[in-house]
Amino acid sequence: MVLDITQIGNPVLREICEEVPEDVLEQDDFQAFIDDLIETKRHANGAGIAAPQVGEPFRIFVVEVKNNPRYPYKPEAELTICVNPKITFLTDERFENYEGCLSIPDLRGKVPRCPHIRVEALDRHGKAFTREVKGITAGTFQHEFDHIDGILFPDRVTDPHTLSTWNEFKERHEDGVRVEVEAIVAKWGE
Ligand code: ZN
Repeated sequence: MVLDITQIGNPVLREICEEVPEDVLEQDDFQAFIDDLIETKRHANGAGIAAPQVGEPFRIFVVEVKNNPRYPYKPEAELTICVNPKITFLTDERFENYEGCLSIPDLRGKVPRCPHIRVEALDRHGKAFTREVKGITAGTFQHEFDHIDGILFPDRVTDPHTLSTWNEFKERHEDGVRVEVEAIVAKWGE
């Protein structure tokens, strides 16, 4: 089932979300909720989605990038469901990433992100996993992780002059960003 996506101004997007208890995670209705979260992300062409974006203040998010019309220049990322995740930065380096958000219609802006992180989380069945994620995909994980701490990308925009509508982005910035993204992918592999 495709769920309604909460929009900036809704206080649920500013909550520090709660950990998902293991007994809740294994319940059928919570598993169905995870399916709905994935379906909603795919329906909206998001690179990721976090539970508060559908009104549920739980520490769970999904990342998946495949033939994405919203981000045609983004490298693909396989479907990953992160429950109660922890992110560790593995380098002091940062790169600037032009982000958008399903909860913030028609706005994009440049955000500094760490290009090499370790993600430790539970999968949808409660099994712990650890994964290193790099480059553009690492930026996507940080964006989704921010959501479960009530942080939205404009909070992290260092230069407000980079703020742009999607049309202006396409017309004026996308070609330049594509070159920047190619350099990041060449360096970090994702
Ligand atoms: Zn978002």
